[in-house]
Formats: sequence, structure tokens, C-alpha cells
Amino acid sequence: MSPDPGKCPATFRSPVTVPILSAMKLFSCGDVVPGCDAQFEHDSEDGILAAVAQHARDVHGLAAVSAELVAAVRSAMVSR
Ligand SMILES: [Zn+2]
Repeated sequence: MSPDPGKCPATFRSPVTVPILSAMKLFSCGDVVPGCDAQFEHDSEDGILAAVAQHARDVHGLAAVSAELVAAVRSAMVSR
């Protein structure tokens, strides 16, 4: 008898583990700009603020993000 080389007995699946590094932050632009359905998700507030700044410039025509807008965005963020 010879071992069958085409059959590997070590077929097992390791459970998929997803490390939770940090809670994601979620921001809906509609919370600050009524009618806008853009949503932003990032693992840090700064990441969302950077994306929102670009979105505000590209979509809403804001040349600069004011301190009031930053405060509004921060307060409208939710963790998930
Ligand atoms: Zn928007």
C-alpha cells in the first residue's frame, strides 16, 4: 500500500478572526446640511473631518471649513 498523494488529511478551516482596532466613526452630512445624503465612515474623527472638508468643497462649494462646521460635524458623529 502506498499513501495517496492527492489526498491531504489536514483540511481544516481556522476561524476567521477580525481584530477590532477601534470603533468606527460615522457621519451623515444630512445632519448638518439638510438634503445631503452623503455619509462618511472612518476610524478617527480627523479622518472624517478631512473627507468632509473635501466633500464640502467639492459638493457644497465651501472654500474653507469653519470652526462652527467642524464643531457641528464632531457633534453629529456617531460611533459604531
Ligand atoms: Zn454633503
